[in-house]
Amino acid sequence: MIIIDYEACINCGKCEKICPCSVIGFTDHPTIEDPDKCWHCLACVKECPVKAIKLRLPPHIADQRYEMLSYHEGNRVVFQVFRAGELEAEYSFEVRR
Ligand code: SF4
Ligand code: SF4
Repeated sequence: MIIIDYEACINCGKCEKICPCSVIGFTDHPTIEDPDKCWHCLACVKECPVKAIKLRLPPHIADQRYEMLSYHEGNRVVFQVFRAGELEAEYSFEVRR
């Protein structure tokens, strides 16, 4: 399940374009159309230019207080794990782009 921060969102529409499962709709702002289709690929999270999307892992995988953020920083991809809104862990890896 993705969580969109509408305060941070700049309505660019990139999340809707990259989602492979049509979970996200877009007219003048993004909407979550069919959350059950989300396969937690993080594509929309990484694509968002303003870090407005976080991923909450499904209940059979994680405690529902955990959310993930991921983004590219130069030649690295960064993964952050939040618990109840507080940063708990951060990992980054060099990637080929
Ligand atoms: S995590 Fe993947 S499947 Fe889920 S909404 Fe984002 S792009 Fe779509
Ligand atoms: S990619 Fe981010 S900023 Fe762009 S519409 Fe989606 S949530 Fe908003």
